[in-house]
Amino acid sequence: MAVSGLPPYDESNVFARILRGEIPCRKVHEDAHVLAFHDIHPQAPVHVLVIPKGAYVSFADFSERASEAEIAGLFRTVGTITRKLGLEAKGYRLLANMGPDSNQEVAHFHVHIFAGRPLGRMLP
Ligand code: AMP
Repeated sequence: MAVSGLPPYDESNVFARILRGEIPCRKVHEDAHVLAFHDIHPQAPVHVLVIPKGAYVSFADFSERASEAEIAGLFRTVGTITRKLGLEAKGYRLLANMGPDSNQEVAHFHVHIFAGRPLGRMLP
């Protein structure tokens, strides 16, 4: 059941297609609840996307409907990936866009990991 005020999940979105194996990705990590892969248009030397395998439109949808295991799994996996990529010492930024004001492009919840250069202030 969709969360009130959010669009229904669109099964044809690009991340749903990646999850179904219809289009390729450069995989960084996969487990029962999560897939992570390199962004196709990287905005930093490291730009990884971490997505739940479940069908959630956005952070609002994920935080309301996902199970404890899915939520813990996603956020623990973000930490696993940043450690695996050796990002802790120099640092990184996590970002999740939600809805039109954020310019969310793909309507499947995802967390961006940016790293590999000084990232400046939070917003341009
Ligand atoms: P957002 O604006 O937060 O929805 O971010 C969506 C991200 O998905 C953008 O950074 C895109 O470059 C990225 N993206 C779109 N299509 C693909 C794809 N096929 N593989 C990897 N990343 C993609």
